[in-house]
Order: sequence, then C-alpha cells, then structure tokens
Amino acid sequence: MSEGSPNIRLGSPDVGERELVEVAEVLESGMLTMGPKVAEFEAEIARLCEVEHALAVTSGTAALHLAVLALDLEPGDEVLVPAYTFPATANVVALSGLKPVLVDVDPETMNIDPSKIEVGPRTKLLLGVHLFGRPLPLHELPDVPLLEDAAGALGAKYRGRACGGLGVAGCLSFHPRKVVTTGEGGAVTTNDGEIAAAVHTMRNHGWRSLSPPDMPAPGLNYRLSDILCAVGIPQARRLDELMAQRARVAEGYSERLRDLPVLLPRADDGDVHGWQAYVLQVDDRDRVLAELRAQGIEAQIGTYALHELGAYADQGPFPGAARVFERALALPLHSRLTDANLDRVAAALDKLVSSH
Ligand SMILES: *Cc1c(COP(=O)(O)O)cnc(C)c1O
Repeated sequence: MSEGSPNIRLGSPDVGERELVEVAEVLESGMLTMGPKVAEFEAEIARLCEVEHALAVTSGTAALHLAVLALDLEPGDEVLVPAYTFPATANVVALSGLKPVLVDVDPETMNIDPSKIEVGPRTKLLLGVHLFGRPLPLHELPDVPLLEDAAGALGAKYRGRACGGLGVAGCLSFHPRKVVTTGEGGAVTTNDGEIAAAVHTMRNHGWRSLSPPDMPAPGLNYRLSDILCAVGIPQARRLDELMAQRARVAEGYSERLRDLPVLLPRADDGDVHGWQAYVLQVDDRDRVLAELRAQGIEAQIGTYALHELGAYADQGPFPGAARVFERALALPLHSRLTDANLDRVAAALDKLVSSH
C-alpha cells in the first residue's frame, strides 16, 4: 500500500508567508542581531507563559544552561533530573559544576515519578520536564524549587496555568520539532527580576553595561538574532491555532488507536497537553518502528534513558526509564496531516501490532 504514496513526515514546521514578511522587515532594516523583533518576540512569549519576563536565547539548551547558572547554586549541589528526557536537561547541570541526580519516571506518564523522589541535604533544585508537552503533576512534587524544562510545553496548561510559568523559571525551545520554531532558538521565562537580569547579562558575554564597560562576572554569547525572532513572532501570535491543529491530530490518533494493545498518551484530567509529540508505547517497538519507516511513515523513538548513556552510566538502575526507552514510539505530528494520513498510520499500526 505504501508504493506510490508519498512519505508521511514526522514533523513539518507551520511557517510561510507571514514569517517571510517579518524576516524581510529585519533584512531591510539592516539591524540583524538584537533589534526590535527580539523584544516583540519576548513580549509574546511572556504573555503566553503568563510571566513578567521572557529572554530569547539561541536554543533550549542555552536557556537551560543560563537558567541553571542564574540560580547561583554551589559547586556539588544536587539537582533532581528525570532519568528519561532529552540529555540536555542533565548535561547543563553537569557542565555547571552541579550534580544531576537522576530520578526514575512513571512508565505510564513518562514524566518523573513523584514517589521515587528523594530529597537530601544537598538537593537544591528539581529540574522538571513536561515531557512531550504533558504537564507534570505539580501537586505531587516535593517542596523543592522547580526549574521547568518546558522545551516542549509551550501552550500546555497545568490546571489552567501555563507551563513555563509554574516554577522559579521555565526554559523553552524553538527547535523545528517544537510547536513554535525559529529554526534554532529558546527562551527563559520567569517572574523573578533577579533571574531575568542575570540571564539578560549572561546571554551577552556578561556585560551589564558597555560604556563604561561593566562586566561583574563572565558570561556567554547566547543572543538570538532579530532574524530568528521575526520567524517566531507570527507563530507565537497564532499559538491557539497551531495547538488546535496538533490537538486535532492527537485526538485523531487516539480515536483510531484506542482498541489496539498500545499505551496512548494523554494529559491528567483538567490539564491541557501541549502535544509537542504524540508518543505511544508498544511492545516490540523496534520492529514496529522499522516497519512503519519501510512503509514511508516517518515514526521515531521517544527520547533517551540517560543512565544507558556513557555520561550517566554511574547511576541507576531505572526500570521505568529503561522500559519507556524500549517501548516509546513517536508518530508523525504536524498541522498538515490529513484524515487520510491518520487513517494510513492507524491502519499500518493496527496490522503491525495485531499480527504479532
Ligand atoms: C528540545 C528539548 C531540549 C533541547 O532544546 P534545543 O533547542 O534543541 O537545545 C531540551 N529538553 C527537552 C525536554 C526538549 O524537548
């Protein structure tokens, strides 16, 4: 059935005419780095995350790095990180001279398992991930400052409150596989003026002022250019529309797949899933993934079990993370998918999991 049908892409950024117009304005202005589009994009992101400050940076990883540095922890302080996440979440902690302490995830939600969290005397922070856009169960988390890895959770809501505005700070990514993309990009969101000021200074080499030159501490260059912020502005303005399109696809899959022997993703009752990815769990995932790809359906694994990577192999075991790493399957998710596309994916999956 696949012969002749075009591939169904995993992702496809929803960008076009409006983004071109914004970018053209920047190119015509000649001001390509931190110009007016940065502030405009930041205002949109702050509004969406219901916070006072949003600071645009070069990636989600840069956002995480600066947010962790801005919290001024002591070398060797411990930061709780889920064992199943994109590695950047733990990498920024380790590279900041802190200790990432991995915590197993709930094999059903794929998010950190609150019952597995142990708070010790050196635990200073919980770096909580709303994985694939599913909000964390905040009410079950211990009383430890929360830094949100909301890289995939722009637009997601925990009990009516925007992800990215739930902790001391939030970190967003605008990589092309996220809901809003600037090609590469990220942002730190916060209501804390001191954190905002620290990120603002550190993303620009550490300059507090240029004349007279005032650099109280070393910084980095993580500035996001005006060109890329221009790409993000129209998408941020139509986030509701982008989210509705993704929810349509996610609900379309869940409707079609509900009777199959697979575990379908969802948010807790009362929460809004951000649908950065639609990740189900299935037995014999590698075979299913290979077969889908052979049929032109660009599926993908979920993300990584950190303790199975050399960098974090000294921790574990984490049976929840190991199980999800083996079973997670991301289906194509973007606004251009048609009902016929969803039918084709569902029919292929039906055959693969039922024939086994
Ligand atoms: C995408 C992502 C990141 C990294 O963002 P980049 O912009 O690619 O650096 C970090 N954490 C999570 C959970 C992500 O989904």
